[in-house]
Amino acid sequence: MTFADHPIETPPRAPSPVHRFGTLAVHAGSPHDPTTGAVIEAISLSTTFAQSAVGKPVGLYEYSRSSNPNRDNFERAVAALEHARYALAFSSGSATTANILQSLAAGSHVVSVSDVYGGTHRYFTKVALTHNVKVTFSPSIEVDIAELIRPETKLIWIETPSNPTLSLVDIRAVATIAHQHGILVVVDNTFLSPYVQNPLDHGADIVVHSVTKYINGHSDVVMGAAAFNSDALFEKLSFLQNAIGAVPSAFDSWLAHRGLKTLHLRAREATKNATTVATALEASPHVISVNYPGLASHPQHKIALKQHRDGMGGGMLSFRIKGGHEAAERFCQATKIFTLAESLGGVESLVEVPGAMTHAGIPRAQREAAGVWDDLVRVSCGIEDELDLKADVLQALEKAVVGPKLNGNGSA
Ligand SMILES: *Cc1c(COP(=O)(O)O)cnc(C)c1O
Repeated sequence: MTFADHPIETPPRAPSPVHRFGTLAVHAGSPHDPTTGAVIEAISLSTTFAQSAVGKPVGLYEYSRSSNPNRDNFERAVAALEHARYALAFSSGSATTANILQSLAAGSHVVSVSDVYGGTHRYFTKVALTHNVKVTFSPSIEVDIAELIRPETKLIWIETPSNPTLSLVDIRAVATIAHQHGILVVVDNTFLSPYVQNPLDHGADIVVHSVTKYINGHSDVVMGAAAFNSDALFEKLSFLQNAIGAVPSAFDSWLAHRGLKTLHLRAREATKNATTVATALEASPHVISVNYPGLASHPQHKIALKQHRDGMGGGMLSFRIKGGHEAAERFCQATKIFTLAESLGGVESLVEVPGAMTHAGIPRAQREAAGVWDDLVRVSCGIEDELDLKADVLQALEKAVVGPKLNGNGSA
């Protein structure tokens, strides 16, 4: 079945299509408590709900894995922000991917961008295969898509921007070809968040998030979500959400919903900070190159202008430092505000070396072909003051690149 010509309908579960992002972030899925008037919803920890007669629950709920008030409200909010009719929450971004892949019949074929999140790559190559779903990876999906489609191709998987090289995919270009063949398009929108990009508006059928990152935004919840418009997808994926049972707790749903209410403020601040840091890095003699979609020098900056809100670049960037892998490691240890850690999208700024950390599992030749050099540093800009972040990066560059030369033990 194709959903290509499915119009973006008024989300029946969202408060109002006339409201803008910030208003929806604060109010979607956040009704006042009808009995107490509480402005903030209670955390509903009960796992089971009373029935007045056999099969007649008192309210909307029966058992908390199937649905509960906190998860429902969070799902409504995500649906509103992604311009979707439906959203479903899962216990992690990875569980979201697993549920979508599990919805495919054995023997199905998937085409994916090569530069996917490591855990997604692992699921595609090590788990999906065990129920006979095969995935072909393409480094240039816009060009190759028509050739890679087979009769059994059911899904296209896109991540834009990619991790950690921040290359972009033109969602509309891929979706147009996919829909001619009745193939669904999934976009992992984790890196930009719904504030910067709404993939369904560009022709995608499903948008997925690791809520762990920008949507929760405070590095204290692991969760995932998928949003879409099709009734048939809702039937299939909500069945699997309950049947597989990889669901978030009421408390995590509540926390993630609280985080989501400030997404617009955080995403704007992270973009501003990343723009300042990327510009400073690009001007530094200690840097080989910078990957940031918000810079005019980004090879696909035109796609950013078309696909991202106001051409925003988001909070993520990466750069190659002079002095090789040793300099990259020294840089990450020399920053004082940026913490050396995996993950991204939180209020605090982070740095990491993908070649030795998040992407260490990929063989070197394959990694370098994708632009993940040993001297590549990935940066997640948080919402601290932009001038402090810029100063921190500049002092760390001096320490990592110039310091060792002065001491006569530079590796460059
Ligand atoms: C973190 C991440 C995931 C996986 O999400 P988890 O919540 O860690 O399971 C998927 N895609 C991207 C782009 C991510 O950054």
